[in-house]
Amino acid sequence: MSFESLGLMAELVHAVSEKGYSVPSPIQQQAIPLVLEGRDIMAGAQTGTGKTAGFTLPLLQRLMVSSKPGKGRRPVRALVLTPTRELAAQVHDSVQTYGKHLPLRSTVVFGGVSINPQKQKLIKGVDILVATPGRLLDHISQRSVDLSSVDILVLDEADRMLDMGFIRDIRKVLSLLPREKQTLLFSATFSKEIKQLANGLLRSPALIEVARQNTAAESVTQVVHPVDKKRKRELLSALIGGNNWKQVLVFTRTKHGANRLAEQLNTDGISSAAIHGNKSQGARTRALADFKAGQVRVLVATDIAARGIDINQLPHVVNYELPNVAEDYVHRIGRTGRAGNEGEAMSLVCVDELTLLKDIERLIKRKIPQVMFEGYEPDPSIKAEPINKGRGNKQRNTKKRVHKPASSKRRDGQLPARNTQKRDRKRNAG
Ligand code: AMP
Repeated sequence: MSFESLGLMAELVHAVSEKGYSVPSPIQQQAIPLVLEGRDIMAGAQTGTGKTAGFTLPLLQRLMVSSKPGKGRRPVRALVLTPTRELAAQVHDSVQTYGKHLPLRSTVVFGGVSINPQKQKLIKGVDILVATPGRLLDHISQRSVDLSSVDILVLDEADRMLDMGFIRDIRKVLSLLPREKQTLLFSATFSKEIKQLANGLLRSPALIEVARQNTAAESVTQVVHPVDKKRKRELLSALIGGNNWKQVLVFTRTKHGANRLAEQLNTDGISSAAIHGNKSQGARTRALADFKAGQVRVLVATDIAARGIDINQLPHVVNYELPNVAEDYVHRIGRTGRAGNEGEAMSLVCVDELTLLKDIERLIKRKIPQVMFEGYEPDPSIKAEPINKGRGNKQRNTKKRVHKPASSKRRDGQLPARNTQKRDRKRNAG
């Protein structure tokens, strides 16, 4: 099967082959012909499946075919919404890469950077706009963008956008789009909320699913190393040093934890950088570029910052701490074993995290093999303690408790975990 045989025009096939791809991935084989036909689609696909090219390529072709040469500013005809800045930047890179032989204009807008240069680009007119919901609404309120000519809407990682609390922003954006349009919805999972959103939005969508919901990619070897919390860093350094790993993505639960771990690894002589929501966009981009270029061996990331990071053939992902939300485990290990490459995901699990591990195993419907490291066996006398979900939560628990209605408090006085997490994520995102 070739990209040509899917009905793509020569300019797009050319760009894809320059990128080095010759065989369309399963999601591309399914999505491209349907999108070219003008169908709405609802696709269950995680990052790593090639979904971005799956919607970008046919989207570019649709815009070329329906292109109406006219005078005046080009109206936005395709809008792609993504949950995070990183993903927005990457999708826009793909738009530029695949559209390099076509006379289409595009731009990307996301938060955390100055709004004026974005405005200038929008005012000149673009055919394709990639955006995070928050910053898009800023532009709408400042009248730098008009969405009344949008023919194609893509919601990328829709489940993430809802998780991050963007539903109201999305609905606001949707209300400004024409009723008649083609909509492509991509989501790794299909919760009740996603189905509700899809029901009101998609017209007889074609359903596409390339990996079973919430199953980890088959090409990823998973392992759990039981270890005491205070010895995790030592074990991690030993693993990286002992195996001479050159490129490792390490996940922590908190921004503070990411910073501290990167510092400690640097002290151990393992070059590391942290990437999280408190870092400026410039610092995040630089850390990612250094990591990709091999100048930094370890990238320590929080879940939110890692969303949408596109690194090919990443061999090792380490869960230094298990995520609070089991679905995040699937997203994390999706960073390895991508596009047919083998990958290894290991989790350093202490006694506090055994419940989180159970949740993950229930979700992925399999037990992850446990391998004990000699010299790092957990001390059986250490009892499980509640997990510290980050400094931000502690502050909120003490300061904001008074203002919360009793019904939204748990008996232990903590805010419901899901809500605090949503707020944290939203603050960190575009
Ligand atoms: P995505 O799921 O869109 O994040 O893509 C995952 C990775 O696979 C990206 O690095 C893509 O550049 C790469 N990729 C996309 N399509 C193909 C293909 N047909 N063959 C090989 N790699 C691909």
